[in-house]
Amino acid sequence: MSTLMNAPDQRRYDADVVIVGGGFMGAATAFFLRQRGRSVILLERGLVGQQASGVNFGNVRRQGRFLPQLPLANRSRAIWGRLPELLGEDVEFLPSGHVRLCYDPVHLDALEEYAKAARQLGLDLELLSQQTVRKRFPYLTHEVAGASYAPVDGHANPRLAAPAFARAAVRAGAKVIENTEIAAVEKDGEDFRATATDGRIFRAPAMLITAGAWGSLLSEQFGEAVPIVARGPQMSVTEPIPYKMREVFGVMTKIEREVVYCRQIPRGNIIIGGSTRGPAFPDIRRAYALPTSTMTQMAEIRRLIPAFGRLNIIRTWSGIEGYMPDDRPIMGPSGKVSGLFYAFGFCGHGFQLGPGVGDVMAELIDTGSTTTPIEPFQMARFAVPVAVAGGVDE
Ligand SMILES: Cc1cc2nc3c(=O)[nH]c(=O)nc-3n(C[C@H](O)[C@H](O)[C@H](O)COP(=O)(O)OP(=O)(O)OC[C@H]3O[C@@H](n4cnc5c(N)ncnc54)[C@H](O)[C@@H]3O)c2cc1C
Repeated sequence: MSTLMNAPDQRRYDADVVIVGGGFMGAATAFFLRQRGRSVILLERGLVGQQASGVNFGNVRRQGRFLPQLPLANRSRAIWGRLPELLGEDVEFLPSGHVRLCYDPVHLDALEEYAKAARQLGLDLELLSQQTVRKRFPYLTHEVAGASYAPVDGHANPRLAAPAFARAAVRAGAKVIENTEIAAVEKDGEDFRATATDGRIFRAPAMLITAGAWGSLLSEQFGEAVPIVARGPQMSVTEPIPYKMREVFGVMTKIEREVVYCRQIPRGNIIIGGSTRGPAFPDIRRAYALPTSTMTQMAEIRRLIPAFGRLNIIRTWSGIEGYMPDDRPIMGPSGKVSGLFYAFGFCGHGFQLGPGVGDVMAELIDTGSTTTPIEPFQMARFAVPVAVAGGVDE
């Protein structure tokens, strides 16, 4: 994203809402706040979408999620389908279908139970027998015992999504200010104040923290530290081959090394994820692709789709994602400070949720409530009280 988006260099900036963190969550919320007529400043340390939001696998997957998260995922999916019209840009979203499969027949019951529960929550899944899988996807290994199929889930291009939201937000009147690291956040009377490392000050009566794996470093300044752990999911991409595979495939398993998922993009490359999550170093903003993970991924992808075993990997990468102990994000109002909101720690599954999180957070900040349930994601479930100087509503 171009630094042309930076606002002119004044020393002080004011808006209705200040958002700290220009990933998918921050950019989408800025866009939807402008749709509601709220003035907004989005602050990003580097470039918008440079961290997890820009380097992820690109899965727009609802099935397999924590069931109480499906209403949010459904709201998000509805927006994914309208992105070109909403943003005036294409982020390569393809509702190509998503297949969740298992090798072990004991997991078939779990797939069936999940499908039954998901149906009550607005997600229709088709259960596929072993025979149907063989007929429909003849390139898959005969080891597949069965699958569930989500016809309108799919994938999109993570490099495009967050910047497209930020550009649309700017066109709608938001200030998106990149290359601006926020060192301090505090409540000062009625207003929140975010102070950048270069001394600039940003003020607003509402603040949203969307700082991904770095979220707790900011929330702890309000006395709400959370036990977030940064990890690096492992990714690789192959040389291109003729485009034949529309669906995204993912293995459902309790054995970590068996976890593998893949998709083909129309340019022909196969994108692969899975295996053990690697270490991530949020202080130096690096997460590394581990050679051992690539080897495991290749072994598992060869098992899933034997023909892919002959392909060359042309690039590997990782990214920094924040994980909570219960694998659910922090999303909603602060438990302590009025006017303060959080949306971070999306535990490896935030890409699909991005548009929905933006829409819900904008609704929450604008109206004080949201029509989509987000109670299971409240900050209060983890926040440990720590002493901070002033600004905290007890
Ligand atoms: C390799 C990988 C693969 C993944 N695959 C998928 C997938 O297929 N499907 C899926 O649904 N999810 C996936 N995820 C998860 C998904 O990418 C994330 O959940 C989502 O992008 C999180 O968005 P975010 O805006 O919360 O965080 P981020 O994208 O990390 O954005 C946070 C931003 O805050 C900025 N920031 C932090 N501190 C400050 C500060 N003090 N001042 C200013 N700016 C600050 C950072 O620079 C960063 O840009 C994957 C994640 C990774 C890493």
